[in-house]
Amino acid sequence: MTIDININLREVEEKIRVAALKAGRDAKDIQLIAVTKTVEPEIIKKAIEYGVKHVGENKVQELLRKYEVIGDQVQWHMIGHLQKNKVKYIIDKVALIHSVDSYDLALEIDKRAKKSGLIMKCLLQVNVSGEETKYGVSREQAKDLLKEISKLHNIHIVGLMTMAPYVEEAKETRACFESLKELSLEIEKMGLHNIQMKYLSMGMSNDFEVAIEEGGTLVRIGSKIFGERNY
Ligand SMILES: *Cc1c(COP(=O)(O)O)cnc(C)c1O
Repeated sequence: MTIDININLREVEEKIRVAALKAGRDAKDIQLIAVTKTVEPEIIKKAIEYGVKHVGENKVQELLRKYEVIGDQVQWHMIGHLQKNKVKYIIDKVALIHSVDSYDLALEIDKRAKKSGLIMKCLLQVNVSGEETKYGVSREQAKDLLKEISKLHNIHIVGLMTMAPYVEEAKETRACFESLKELSLEIEKMGLHNIQMKYLSMGMSNDFEVAIEEGGTLVRIGSKIFGERNY
């Protein structure tokens, strides 16, 4: 079966539009991030031709390899777990890091951003479901951590990211997204310096419509666009 990226993209966009409408939201407030892990640069170029403006990668090495070919034609999003020692390689290449999950990582990002003379926008990754296999801080840890990060100057937290549990039950998925939205409102009320709750990065191929209904602004979609991945 050949995969028609153009058709897939149009379908995803239409679904985003319908989900936004259903939630009484403006579809323009929802940004599609095409998740390109395991997708080769030639295919990514096609996706760019068809209108993709944001791409997400979950591994530093892979991001760098593709960045060399594609460069700044798109905005790059680091969506996977990030090791401190790799921050320096991506600091001047990515628009947003979705996966800040410790003070040490935030500190390193701050240091490297300062060195490069920039302010790095990041999201705090929250493990709402509490699954042990998932990265991210707990809801309880989030606020204290942000109080500390807010003292740093070259990293700005601009929202939250989460991954919903893989379950059949849409109810559980919805509860997870709802919980992240609630947390973002609580954080907003704290009025912390350098901390904004502008973005909620939630929703993937199998749950982005629910995420949009619950307030998601950045949806990270891979297989619905590029087909199932072969690792
Ligand atoms: C792979 C990945 C996605 C996209 O997953 P699909 O189910 O293919 O849409 C989204 N977010 C993260 C963090 C990922 O690693």
